Amino acid sequence: MSDREWFDEPDPTGASGTGEVGLRFTCTSCGACCTGPEGYVSFSDDEGRAIAGRLGISHEAFMRDYTRDTIEGRSLTERQTEHGYDCVFLDRETIPGKAICAVYEDRPGQCRTWPFWAVNLRSRKHWRSASRGCPGMDTGELHTPAQVRLTRERDEID
Ligand code: SF4
Repeated sequence: MSDREWFDEPDPTGASGTGEVGLRFTCTSCGACCTGPEGYVSFSDDEGRAIAGRLGISHEAFMRDYTRDTIEGRSLTERQTEHGYDCVFLDRETIPGKAICAVYEDRPGQCRTWPFWAVNLRSRKHWRSASRGCPGMDTGELHTPAQVRLTRERDEID
């Protein structure tokens, strides 16, 4: 059986480019994936410690002030805004018209691996469906199938 997957083939509709192989994505900093309905942003112990270090606070203070329990385990907290439930680290102030991550270099794997999540890579239909909520998908930097697989693997580990 072949290990080839749908993203090993050029997009038949041409929506991702001109017969190129791979998936395009560059974040536009719209913030749409960091807000919306109440949700959760998972993080590992190491990731939590990295964010605490970036903030210059203790791990205990980070856990107390920036995280909460959810059915999916411990999550970064959210705050209700006119846009929805924003991740506590979503910064809409620093760059007018943009929503950036205040802990970008130490953001959790869940954020780091978007949009190359296994759930979005099940089929071109799933990818297309996810792209309706993320203007950065199908545009910008071309990620080769090997890069896509690597990022997906990281998502599966997280
Ligand atoms: S929805 Fe897409 S383009 Fe917008 S912030 Fe998230 S990753 Fe970036």
